[in-house]
Amino acid sequence: MMSETGTGQRALIDEIINQDLCVRCGACVGFCPYFSYFDGQVVVLDRCQASADRCFQVCPVAREQGTREPRIREGSEIGPIERVFMARAMNSDIREVAQYGGVVTALVTYALEQGLMESAVLTDRGDLFSPEGREVQDKSAVRQFSGSRYTASGGLAALNRAVKQGRRKIGVVGLPCQMSALAKMAESTEDPRDLDDRITMKLGLFCTWALDFRKLVEFLKKQGVKGPYVKFDIPPPPAEIFQVESEEGWTEFPLSEIRPSIQKGCLLCEDMTAEKSDISVGVVEGQQQWNTVIVRTQRGAELLDKASQDGWLETGPLPPENLEHLKDAARGKRERGRRVRDDQ
Ligand SMILES: Cc1cc2nc3c(=O)[nH]c(=O)nc-3n(C[C@H](O)[C@H](O)[C@H](O)COP(=O)(O)OP(=O)(O)OC[C@H]3O[C@@H](n4cnc5c(N)ncnc54)[C@H](O)[C@@H]3O)c2cc1C
Repeated sequence: MMSETGTGQRALIDEIINQDLCVRCGACVGFCPYFSYFDGQVVVLDRCQASADRCFQVCPVAREQGTREPRIREGSEIGPIERVFMARAMNSDIREVAQYGGVVTALVTYALEQGLMESAVLTDRGDLFSPEGREVQDKSAVRQFSGSRYTASGGLAALNRAVKQGRRKIGVVGLPCQMSALAKMAESTEDPRDLDDRITMKLGLFCTWALDFRKLVEFLKKQGVKGPYVKFDIPPPPAEIFQVESEEGWTEFPLSEIRPSIQKGCLLCEDMTAEKSDISVGVVEGQQQWNTVIVRTQRGAELLDKASQDGWLETGPLPPENLEHLKDAARGKRERGRRVRDDQ
């Protein structure tokens, strides 16, 4: 891929948005004034005449011309690891509303309570509309954002708004593409916002792919499953099902029926475990009341240790077979991403 149209807004439109490769991370929304997010889509409001290429620089799908980003070193299929283990929230009220063990909700609530974060960028439930990013300052509100929406949310638009308001000590919860966009923002020569200083914690979610919101809703409506949608789940292999809870209860579909709704840009992604985060969180296969947790950085370790010492998290060793399986899955995603990108 790349690039007869340069690396500015035109390139982003021609090579990412018009090719349906946008993964709706929200990094460009509100960072560049000409992009907005509406009902699951990044919308171009106007053509930008500036030669600066800030939107292109922060896009996690775009790559520099002619280079292959050296994402992973040999032998580290799941990225940098300081520690890997399993954990869950001690508080059963959190576990009740969380997707799995509630580690993400517990860590964000704790960090807000302790003043380690001034605010957190989370993703709302969406109900009838597409989920969206929200900035949350009140620790008691964090639980309302628990659970996984398997559609992308444009969530980093909320980060861009928070930064504009001068917020510091921001925690961000996001998908691998969003963690990658944050890394690109911090490195960007066009981004003067000192994001490394402002973002105090990056909590990344494992992700195999995300769904296109409009395609998913169309599919569910055809199947007679009406919103608002309360909860979604994709239980770990070998289940191969997609579950949705609506007011009428739970319905499930074979994953093969859902796969046509996967965002095309997700198939280029090589990162399953959010390698650019401070702490990455996923499920423990076979023990869905627990999370797999990868601590990657010193500041991630400090938050984890404090939260555990103060009784917010229960931890235990991750069974070696789970770690091996996670590495296999991560390797599989990387190989798929490389193949698809090379075929372009
Ligand atoms: C699209 C998607 C795909 C995933 N794929 C996998 C996978 O293949 N394997 C795996 O082990 N785990 C996957 N996960 C992660 C998993 O679903 C849980 O989010 C994770 O294990 C944390 O669990 P928890 O109980 O701590 O979450 P909770 O405590 O319930 O917290 C969940 C957090 O996720 C945030 N969130 C919800 N939806 C989104 C979204 N669309 N974008 C960004 N943030 C969001 C919420 O704001 C909330 O803070 C995926 C998550 C998503 C959103």
